[in-house]
Amino acid sequence: MRSSYGMTHVGLVRSNNEDFYISKPDLGLHIVADGMGGAKAGELASRITVETVVSEMERDGQTVNLASLTEAIRLANKNVRGEADRNHQNAGMGTTVVAVLVNETKAYLASVGDSRAYLRTAGELYCVTTDHTWINEIGKGLGLTEEQLRTHPYRNVLTKAVGAEDTIEVETHIVDFLPGDILLLCSDGLHNVAGEDALVQSLDQPGPLKIKCELLIEAALEKGAPDNITAVLIEN
Ligand code: CA
Repeated sequence: MRSSYGMTHVGLVRSNNEDFYISKPDLGLHIVADGMGGAKAGELASRITVETVVSEMERDGQTVNLASLTEAIRLANKNVRGEADRNHQNAGMGTTVVAVLVNETKAYLASVGDSRAYLRTAGELYCVTTDHTWINEIGKGLGLTEEQLRTHPYRNVLTKAVGAEDTIEVETHIVDFLPGDILLLCSDGLHNVAGEDALVQSLDQPGPLKIKCELLIEAALEKGAPDNITAVLIEN
């Protein structure tokens, strides 16, 4: 029996929450977006993106598959850029997005930016998505030391984001999603802060998804939660 649960927390440092998530079990659709931009722009970018994808997937006659999910993210990119053009206060806003469509046996994933999808299956934790960040796509190829990478001023700069450019490259994956498997969608306020050991411990805690979600959020809070924290869990 498939179930899902999502939770977000502003964290312990920021005054506003620019993360946004939604679960639509009727469509098998779950999304996490992590916005950036001045004032309220980051919140707006993540919300526009999630709402665009949901309304596209809900549209009458829409075929809900990975191609339509990717197209919906392209439309979200257009909508975020349109909103930034209309109101200069929102100029430069953008967001990550990680979205999944699940059915009985498969998960169809689309991602832009550094929010992640993890799969817990057969006692292993796999990070399915790639971080579209300077450190991952450029920094690691420069021969810098771990310490230089860890403290580099560009380490958190995204190489791809919804709203950043007119065209957008969406990363996609199809993975087996078997009975007992758990998918975790999360913002970097969780995965960059809590660490993967804490993710595994939380996911392996017995009990409903709500408890596991609370443990994930707590793991980031215990480490000082410098950023907004969002986790969405889907269990097959
Ligand atoms: Ca973040």
